Amino acid sequence: MSSGQVNAVRGMNDISGEQARYFDLLEVTARQLLANYGYDHVRLPVVEKTELFCRSIGEVTDIVEKEMYTFADRNGDSLTLRPEGTAGCVRAAIENSWINQGAQKLYYMGPMFRHERPQKGRYRQFYQLGVETFGMAGPDIDAELILMSARLWKLLGIEAELLINSLGSATSRVAYREALTAYFSAHYDVLDEDSQKRLHRNPLRILDSKNPALKDVIAGAPKLSDWLDEASQASFSGLLAHLDAAGVAYRVEPTLVRGLDYYNDTVFEWVTTELGSQGTICAGGRYDGLVTQLGGKAVPAIGFALGMERVVALMQAKAQPIPSTLDVYVIAAGELAQRRVLALAESWRDALPSLRLMVHHGGGSFKNQFKKADKSGARFALVLGDDEVAQQKIGVKFLREETEQVLLSWTELPAWLSKQLSN
Ligand code: ATP
Ligand code: MG
Repeated sequence: MSSGQVNAVRGMNDISGEQARYFDLLEVTARQLLANYGYDHVRLPVVEKTELFCRSIGEVTDIVEKEMYTFADRNGDSLTLRPEGTAGCVRAAIENSWINQGAQKLYYMGPMFRHERPQKGRYRQFYQLGVETFGMAGPDIDAELILMSARLWKLLGIEAELLINSLGSATSRVAYREALTAYFSAHYDVLDEDSQKRLHRNPLRILDSKNPALKDVIAGAPKLSDWLDEASQASFSGLLAHLDAAGVAYRVEPTLVRGLDYYNDTVFEWVTTELGSQGTICAGGRYDGLVTQLGGKAVPAIGFALGMERVVALMQAKAQPIPSTLDVYVIAAGELAQRRVLALAESWRDALPSLRLMVHHGGGSFKNQFKKADKSGARFALVLGDDEVAQQKIGVKFLREETEQVLLSWTELPAWLSKQLSN
């Protein structure tokens, strides 16, 4: 066995510092927003039976063909680290009878795993916020999901463009699929290897190709919109009318098909040009057939998944740096001061429950402790020496502005701080 340092698995990241603070901000904001729209949080397993993903995502998809982390359990069962959250949520909704309890609005956040080529915005462990609804046929819920995501961008101070399309019903897709196969067969030589492979197994997936060389041939392909039946057309125009009424801009994108098999009718993506080629920050759609496909009763469903790293990257690029998480850093030198400082800090925490206060640990000279205080990002250093203890006072140094140090009594400090921090 070799000795020395052990590093993380490629494509799996440690998240810390500013990035972690932006993740927290995204999570807190999203939780509040989802609660306001009546969504319940669910916590689901990270590991599921492999069969669940093969039967839902589809055998002829990037995910199932080449991206899953699949392994044998000790008893030989084939298990897989979830590559996405919808399949597990549908499984849970059937297994726990949620789908029999009226309309459901659910969400979850957590890591997903795909063995992709790691690059900016594409990792092997990444985080998704997933939203799933059951029991609502739309198009009003479709529209509300989109309005809710639009509101989230606004709350986070980021911008994205909405692309939207209708895939139609499963039956209309059969006819469309034939037309598409005929068209791409006539352009066989232009297709790349992946697309040639997909021609007969899943030609719709060619439309989802990211290969720029295929852009023209894809643009000339038959449009799904010409194959939609009346019900799908009515649902799609109903959705667009809701978006128009709410003033949310969108672009109908006829080649938007999404990378998973279970979608029908509404599909959408939020995209940005600011992150390079991994520009989709959120994607979703209707999947009315999936619940029966996984053994449940027929229940309409729609949801979306948001790529949290990509949203965080946008937040970092757009927003002001997150303000420091500390208000005050308390330093103490001298025997009496050291003995009193923790209890005093507790009394100030009692008086100001939202105060973000850190006490210096490990002693050292005032000079060194001041350096730590400055580095902490706090607005104030509270300075306690033996003289201050004798007078029951505390020195307050402004760390971010040119203002004279002040000396306050222990009892007047909370009110003084409260006033300063509300400015
Ligand atoms: P892409 O087209 O970028 O490969 P996808 O269609 O495979 O995305 P979905 O399965 O719809 O993605 O997942 C929803 C969102 O999760 C994506 O829009 C993206 O923001 C994020 N996402 C997907 N795969 C990754 C990954 N490997 N690393 C980071 N984020 C990801
Ligand atoms: Mg992908």
